[in-house]
Amino acid sequence: MTTTQTLKGSELNVVQWQVTGHSQPLSTSYAHHMIDQIADIGTAKLVIRGDNPMQRKDLFSLIDYATSRNISVSLATEGIAKMSVRAAANARDAGISRWAIRMNTWPDLLDTLSAFRISELRPFRAGYLLADHDVPIEIDTTVTNANLKHLEQIADIAQYVFGAKTWNVEMGTPSKRVMSRQMVTADQAEHLLRWMYKETSMRTIQITTTDAPFYERIMLQERSKQSHDSSMPDADREITDDQLVTIGAQKIPHDGNGEIFISHQGDVYPSEHLPLIVGNIRKQELGDVYEHSPLLQELRTGDRLHGKCSECVFRNVCGGSRARAFAMTGDYMAADPLCAYVPTLTNSPVSPIQ
Ligand code: SF4
Repeated sequence: MTTTQTLKGSELNVVQWQVTGHSQPLSTSYAHHMIDQIADIGTAKLVIRGDNPMQRKDLFSLIDYATSRNISVSLATEGIAKMSVRAAANARDAGISRWAIRMNTWPDLLDTLSAFRISELRPFRAGYLLADHDVPIEIDTTVTNANLKHLEQIADIAQYVFGAKTWNVEMGTPSKRVMSRQMVTADQAEHLLRWMYKETSMRTIQITTTDAPFYERIMLQERSKQSHDSSMPDADREITDDQLVTIGAQKIPHDGNGEIFISHQGDVYPSEHLPLIVGNIRKQELGDVYEHSPLLQELRTGDRLHGKCSECVFRNVCGGSRARAFAMTGDYMAADPLCAYVPTLTNSPVSPIQ
């Protein structure tokens, strides 16, 4: 059995696995071996993603196997044209914990129905089939400057139309999904995440975020502001370890720091949008790659960050998106270009709580 490194808060919690229809996918036996390694490490969550993961004939038997090994499995499909009654039933029987449907735009339902735009109706058909089979639904939304003003409506659709358990907001890294000119600004991201924090207490739907590790900084600051407990810190001024225990500071898995990405061919990357290969699970044990890769070790070391992230008290619970830093500056240790925070102190960094 392989064990992961024991850096505080850096255990491997989330494995993203890309499934495509491309050539040379992992064989069923390699996929079983991968799942065994994930289970042995103790990783809690496997996210299977791709344009149409159902192209793998063994998909639901692999999900069934992973859930039998106490791994929570989510399915994130970009295309849902192939959604069927059978797929929804298979997902339910395999014990899937979430099926994520992408919704990046605010669909005007009346316009869509009157114009009978099939592509815009597909998510609703998929949602109906999943709900009819008691498959928990997640709605994924990648934020752009085009949909920023419609996010509240998208959250409403996720909660009230789909009855989704989770609305996951992806902050975006320049990639095939989001072009640089579509990215929101740092101020817009800050405003959005503070709005999301407030919405979490008013909605029944769980609101999560990816590609925004500085959401942890925002949550700490907001909790600190709202607390009337004098033992709670002012996160902008001074933070002690005792106060952090009180607050419950945790790390959001990202970029080789609690999360890794495995391609359809078994290549291991720190994350989906950080295109630097650190190993391959056909040749290496996943736990060894995660623990010993020099690049992953560097990414997990807050003191090796550059720019303002290197001076930030939140660097060990946040550290910024390494994928976005690489995509927008060419330096994977640079400051996260989407974080609006300006560090004012050179205190000891905050440590995540175990
Ligand atoms: S400056 Fe860097 S480490 Fe600090 S909160 Fe922003 S992204 Fe995180």
